Amino acid sequence: MQYFHQDSQGKSIDLPVGKVICIGGNYADHIKEMSSLVTDEPVLFMKPSTAMVRLEPEIKIPTEFGECHNETEIAVLIGTALKNADVTAAENAIWGIGIAQDLTLRALQKRLKSQGRPWERAKSFDASCPLSGFTSKQYFDDLNNIEFSLEVNGKLRQAGNSANMERSIVEVVSLMSQNFTLLPGDVVLTGTPAGVAALSSGDKLSISFDRFNYTSQVVTHD
Ligand code: ZN
Repeated sequence: MQYFHQDSQGKSIDLPVGKVICIGGNYADHIKEMSSLVTDEPVLFMKPSTAMVRLEPEIKIPTEFGECHNETEIAVLIGTALKNADVTAAENAIWGIGIAQDLTLRALQKRLKSQGRPWERAKSFDASCPLSGFTSKQYFDDLNNIEFSLEVNGKLRQAGNSANMERSIVEVVSLMSQNFTLLPGDVVLTGTPAGVAALSSGDKLSISFDRFNYTSQVVTHD
């Protein structure tokens, strides 16, 4: 089914489906588990519109390139165009907030990294960005205090809070707009906390995000 943006009630949002821009290394505990270096220059990468799919009721992962890891991330839906935006303009351009998986073919990514090659094959494949519906930003008391977690088969795997980001949600959006024009309908992923690990066929995911709960099952075939 063709993807379109939805609100948390499942109603279509009148914005086009654009690109997804992602930041790497935005939580200290994940930087540590990846043995990555903290740098002033963060890694930014993109997923195409063909990466976007619904988070529920199931997410489909590839099997032919080794381990596919969960990365639970707060997602931002952009409502108005942004270029070289400061944090105030960035905040004003946010339509709403949701939760996503930045699915990552980790073995392939490691190989590409070690060869100094770009990551698209590991990060930007079809259906690599399952997304929840988006809720208008005014429903969140504080964008810098949004809690989320991922349970896999009933066991807590990731727990995050936007308070623990290296760069806040609006700082990430502002930063991205220095490099790329953000257009209405684009999505920004804000990085993942620790707890990335391989997903397997049949895994039951339970994702809580602010006051919302989503459940999904991992499948490896249609
Ligand atoms: Zn990520």
